[in-house]
Amino acid sequence: MSVSKIEVYPAAVLKRVASEVTEINGATQTLITNMVDTMKSAGGVGLAAPQVNVSKRVIVMEFSHYDERMQGLIVMINPEIVYAEGGMYQEEGCLSVPDFRAAIERSALVYARGIDGQGKIVEIEGRGIVAICLQHEIDHLNGVLFIDRLSEGQSSFFRKAKKIRKIKTT
Ligand SMILES: [Zn+2]
Repeated sequence: MSVSKIEVYPAAVLKRVASEVTEINGATQTLITNMVDTMKSAGGVGLAAPQVNVSKRVIVMEFSHYDERMQGLIVMINPEIVYAEGGMYQEEGCLSVPDFRAAIERSALVYARGIDGQGKIVEIEGRGIVAICLQHEIDHLNGVLFIDRLSEGQSSFFRKAKKIRKIKTT
């Protein structure tokens, strides 16, 4: 297992737009292995490369603990949302924003395309947790965190929550 430290808000790498992967090489494979190990050890369903301090367009996802029909690891390099429709609110959290969860507005159905670790095109159509995760992880590649999508009221709650936490630790 090669587990990395997960970058936590407000780390600068989380605000940066990640760069496209132009070649799948040994470094890409090492990054993917490391991201998968880190995601599993943290008990997450998805992870984006900027969360392990690598500003590259790579995401990994694993949904089997949500739904046993969705076995297997999903690796997407340079993923993009090709099509999205509908809307939903569902609570989500992020390994880079510990101890905070909130319901965010997301598209209900997402169709995404990218390249897997072997250089093959992967296409995923997902609803529910899959749709949320795709949007959440691709946001990370654009320097966007779910807390950037909070409503005004949620946002002031988040600021207060952070303040309380800071007071407790100093
Ligand atoms: Zn996240």
